[in-house]
Amino acid sequence: MSNPMLPEKILHYIGGKHLPSVDGATFEVAEPVTNRVYAQVAAGGPEDVDRAVEAATAAFETGPWPAMTARARARVLNRIADAIEARGEQIAAMETFDTGLPVTQARGQAARAAENFRFFADMAVTLHEDAFSSPAQLGYVLRKPRGVAGLITPWNTPFMLESWKLAPALAAGCTVVLKPAEWTPLSASLLPEIMAEAGVPDGVFNIVHGIGEVAGAALVMHPGAPLISFTGETTTGQTIMRSAATSLKGLSMELGGKSPCVIFADADLDLAVDSALFGVFSLNGERCTAGSRILAERTVYDSLVSRLGERAERIKVGDPSDPATEIGALVHPEHYDRVLSYVRLGVREGARLVTGGSRPAGLGAGNYLAATVFADVTPSMRIFQEEIFGPVVCVTPFDDEAEAVALANDTRYGLAAYLWTCDLRRAHRVAAAVEAGMTWVNSHNVRDLRTPFGGVKASGLGREGGQHSIDFYTESRIVHVALGDTHVPRFGA
Ligand code: NDP
Repeated sequence: MSNPMLPEKILHYIGGKHLPSVDGATFEVAEPVTNRVYAQVAAGGPEDVDRAVEAATAAFETGPWPAMTARARARVLNRIADAIEARGEQIAAMETFDTGLPVTQARGQAARAAENFRFFADMAVTLHEDAFSSPAQLGYVLRKPRGVAGLITPWNTPFMLESWKLAPALAAGCTVVLKPAEWTPLSASLLPEIMAEAGVPDGVFNIVHGIGEVAGAALVMHPGAPLISFTGETTTGQTIMRSAATSLKGLSMELGGKSPCVIFADADLDLAVDSALFGVFSLNGERCTAGSRILAERTVYDSLVSRLGERAERIKVGDPSDPATEIGALVHPEHYDRVLSYVRLGVREGARLVTGGSRPAGLGAGNYLAATVFADVTPSMRIFQEEIFGPVVCVTPFDDEAEAVALANDTRYGLAAYLWTCDLRRAHRVAAAVEAGMTWVNSHNVRDLRTPFGGVKASGLGREGGQHSIDFYTESRIVHVALGDTHVPRFGA
């Protein structure tokens, strides 16, 4: 990386101050190309979370942020977007360094982060509240920010996912405590200066770094934070739901996926192949919406498997900071080993390894894995059922539409689905039958930020995006006002 501007220490940011942990605890963070430690990070504990929630509560209860006009808040959000855009290259370089994502894709994620703030700045000024009138009564809705929002985020596209929660929370007038993922704290360390430069008042935005089971758990249990927006693994989401029950928190859960990409024989197969490869191998395959199960109609199955294999073999794996790289280094050796264990499992389970499955020749110590294609995968195999979260795709044949739908739905997950067919009626039928929160027809993962984002089944609860995010960070209160003479039944008169 040319100029990573690496901090030696990454601290919490609480009430406008960079602070170490109360007990001085730290943890080490390494980057995935050499797996060398590059910084010490403050390891937050319950006391640090207490301080952050206190700062956020004070900013919410007595600070200017929730009371500002929506237009004033929107101006600040737009300035955050400006500050992100001005640092676009730096953010992309940091993200690439910390996560191993190819730099061209990290640039796209940085741009999308700025867009998230612009989008919710626009939403803030167009928000309106309902009124219900009758001759006797007027009911009007007050939409209030819900208070301190705890935001807990994963390591796969950290900066973008943090912005996807921060932007609507701030637009709604909430104050926040962010707990970034332990493996990738670097890009979040730019947020304090971005927020301060944009004019976000102290205490509105706070970060507590740390280990999920400690800092994350303390945030989830904290009675001062009525909301938790979580993105991460399904099992972590289940743990969080259990702990959050004691204080009846509002929860948004964006969880794992094992999404099908269903290719019918009548599809535009060139486009379908492009999309299927991009869908699973972009972002190193560490993508919640990855189309990691390709279901192919049997009449085109063999030719699709060989095309996918040939193209996957040519995917350039290597130094994530090289603009020609298509797959970089997986985030962490522990994750790398986990993905490799799935490759070995697939072979043991009897799937056909078409290509990949090992470190490409000539690459050094980093967590590199060649784009990996398994064919003849059956639903009883664990590689069909479990989220691998790496550059590994399973291909399975089907004979007819009913079987395609059954295979698509034969998983605990239900985040995304991709359908490729030129038969319009079939496209609508299958889109309705597939159990997925988001389905794309003849398209890859193109998002309109107004649309609901989220999964069904084990892929999540609630929706993010547009009005859905605003609804989460606000609550509606109704005020009923009598308009004419009030007739009240006279008990005890
Ligand atoms: P994890 O669930 O391991 O972690 C997510 C966050 O939760 C991290 O900050 C983590 O801290 C924290 N955490 C861990 N345990 C607890 C706990 N007990 N209480 C509170 N917080 C906790 O997910 P990953 O970081 O491994 O991310 C990959 C997963 O995220 C995949 O399953 C992927 O599908 C999913 N994901 C879903 C998306 C969606 O929109 N549906 C989008 C992107 C990813 P720490 O880092 O210390 O572990």
